Amino acid sequence: VPAIELRGVGKTFQSSGESVAAVRELDLEIAQGEFFSLLGPSGCGKTTTMRMIAGFEEPTAGVVRLLGRDVTGVPPNRRDVNMVFQSYALFPHMSVFENVAFGLRRKGVAKREIAERVGAMLEIVDLAGRERRRPAALSGGQQQRVALARALVNRPRALLLDEPLGALDLKLRQAMQVELKRIQREVGITFVYVTHDQGEALTMSDRIAVMNDGAVEQLGTPREIYEHPATRFTAGFIGTSNLLAGEVTEVVGERAVLAYGPDGRIEVPLRGGPGVAAGERLELTVRPEKIGIGTDAPGGGLCGVRGTVTEVVYLGTSTNYNVTTATGADVVVFLQNATSADDIAVRGDGVWLSWDPRHSYAI
Ligand code: ADP
Ligand code: MG
Repeated sequence: VPAIELRGVGKTFQSSGESVAAVRELDLEIAQGEFFSLLGPSGCGKTTTMRMIAGFEEPTAGVVRLLGRDVTGVPPNRRDVNMVFQSYALFPHMSVFENVAFGLRRKGVAKREIAERVGAMLEIVDLAGRERRRPAALSGGQQQRVALARALVNRPRALLLDEPLGALDLKLRQAMQVELKRIQREVGITFVYVTHDQGEALTMSDRIAVMNDGAVEQLGTPREIYEHPATRFTAGFIGTSNLLAGEVTEVVGERAVLAYGPDGRIEVPLRGGPGVAAGERLELTVRPEKIGIGTDAPGGGLCGVRGTVTEVVYLGTSTNYNVTTATGADVVVFLQNATSADDIAVRGDGVWLSWDPRHSYAI
């Protein structure tokens, strides 16, 4: 059975006479031991979703199941899940050990077992030897790991983390991302992670649900989400994407062929999606690093589009080109410097953009 299952879950708030649909008809299955992320912009319903899983909020529609059990009406402390927030609020007057031991003491766990479990947990979060410190004597990253240990020591079936690294600076955050992934692997429990930072979600997750306006836009592995954005929203939210459109001139098997400008040609695999017919308009995305730049029209079945270079930005490991196509679309191209000659094109040059049709994604 899934660790966490949401079926048609919705949450509508009533605030000052108005109703706000924070979450609409959410269907999710999170497997046991999975590192699962909810990724989306501020206000899209991530925290509300977590609070419904944790039991701080009851859905106004649908049902939440934990390990197959309907938990409607079950209070948070009886749900076998623990939540870690960005403001993790350690007890300032207690030592690291006492902070982590707090929940176990309240449950009346024997002293000896507390010492063992807290010790083992501090080992896992790499804080062994710091038991007697006060939180104020720790760095931000260390404090965050105390909060993590405090939640994990209760041995929850799942840990819910709501933007837990938001307060840390970039370098520390990146180090903690790797650390969190290691800890999750080591304790082997389900992590549900909320973030608005795509890099963070791509780094750590087994699967990601991209959320927009209270609903899931796309669900998949980091690679699937990055390489095959299924909607315009996902394409725009995750990384940089180029959006192109053209008229379908013919459909050959599973491929649509588009005319682009006076002599451009784009092929788009249809991948079993909704069919298109000749004469219809089709939109597609292509990632910037999949596009090449040349002076001649490409052969060999590649897609080719004519354009003019409007900007060249040298970035050390790559060079970025901005190109305006024959039909006025702005396209970004990232070329790795290791594999490309310098000065392939300069501002004002007429160029051909080319890519393998496999990298065209209809949206
Ligand atoms: P996120 O965590 O993705 O930023 P939230 O789940 O916090 O999003 O909020 C989703 C939407 O629900 C927002 O429009 C927010 O203003 C609204 N919302 C959240 N909690 C409440 C509440 N208690 N009462 C009224 N509206 C709320
Ligand atoms: Mg939030």
